Amino acid sequence: MRRPQKIAVDVAIVGAGPAGLLAAQAAARAGAWTLIIEAKAQVGWPNHCAEWLPGLVLGQGQVPAEAPRARVGELECRAGQTRAVARVAGVVVDRPTWQKALAEEALWWGGSLTCRARALGLDEDGRLLVAGPAGRFAVRAGAVIVADGALSPLARALGLGRQAGAPAINLEVEAGPRPCRPAVEFWPELFGYGWSFPKGATVNIGLGGVTLGRRRLPALLAAWRESLLAQGLIGPGVVRRGGGWLGHDGPRAAFVRGPGQTPLLLCGDAAGLGHPCTGAGLPQAVDSGLLAGAAAADLARGVAGAGPAYQAELTARFGQYLGRGLAARQGAWALWRADWPAAARRYWPLWPAEAGR
Ligand SMILES: Cc1cc2nc3c(=O)[nH]c(=O)nc-3n(C[C@H](O)[C@H](O)[C@H](O)COP(=O)(O)OP(=O)(O)OC[C@H]3O[C@@H](n4cnc5c(N)ncnc54)[C@H](O)[C@@H]3O)c2cc1C
Repeated sequence: MRRPQKIAVDVAIVGAGPAGLLAAQAAARAGAWTLIIEAKAQVGWPNHCAEWLPGLVLGQGQVPAEAPRARVGELECRAGQTRAVARVAGVVVDRPTWQKALAEEALWWGGSLTCRARALGLDEDGRLLVAGPAGRFAVRAGAVIVADGALSPLARALGLGRQAGAPAINLEVEAGPRPCRPAVEFWPELFGYGWSFPKGATVNIGLGGVTLGRRRLPALLAAWRESLLAQGLIGPGVVRRGGGWLGHDGPRAAFVRGPGQTPLLLCGDAAGLGHPCTGAGLPQAVDSGLLAGAAAADLARGVAGAGPAYQAELTARFGQYLGRGLAARQGAWALWRADWPAAARRYWPLWPAEAGR
């Protein structure tokens, strides 16, 4: 039997989503020898997202000019006859373009990237085991960043448990003859919501949440697509189909020590930073990725306090925000069957207050 190849780096990063790519950038900038391991053949593709990015991320200069495809200034919120318009600031971004630029930046700073490589777990000495395109290899790292998304296969392999959540599906479809406004929509049979985000020549439409009636998510999406098509708000052509998992447990421990005392830093969706109601997690992925990368570089050079400090910083930044999201989710669930439009107003954090939230 061939022995697995052995590699040593300062920081190993599992997952080339926004969290992992920004972590790689931050760690490499801090002088760490960095390796990103990504299961997909191509960074950012296939893409499973509705691609709405709130404006605060743009302010951090992390999005290249060519990635945003449409501005979002207003968001229509609909639950039956209850309607309101929220003022928001953000863009619909083309995620493959954005992530390609993030990857290029990380590589420019000296990181390296292996695609078609799946992290399997840590061996008893704390080495990261990877199944790559040319066979298995083991990575000895001063710190490992777990940025492998809401289902986090690596966290599960390490016995850190699975986050509760709900499925979501997205279609990118042709734009229709009439302008489609950015909108979220609620229905009684979905404890969750639907979205339509125009993206220039296309529109992202999708649904995420727990179905309460007999119809499953694909059937509900097909019905909604028919209605948007009949109103001329979208065209018939489908450009892309995607879907994924929206974690709704809230944050989990983001700094732990694995086998062999290897420091593990969880970030982005893997750390439970997706919003418990909306499922939106891109801003948190950006922030936590940058923090995790800097902390991992410190840990790799022996700064033991960097792990607890990372955990404390995440709690300070997102604890209250995600805690309010969890409470809103619980409150909305308790009310849903009795008065789902009122519950939807409680559920959706951007529902304008003057509309009776
Ligand atoms: C349908 C849908 C629509 C969404 N729309 C929005 C939106 O409009 N706005 C918003 O803010 N958020 C949205 N989200 C949430 C958003 O996609 C996530 O919050 C965001 O992608 C989190 O980034 P991340 O880097 O933590 O993880 P991800 O983007 O999930 O990246 C994880 C990466 O890890 C890789 N990976 C997984 N396992 C392994 C392994 N074992 N080894 C190596 N690589 C691995 C994956 O291939 C992937 O590339 C949506 C989610 C879904 C499912």
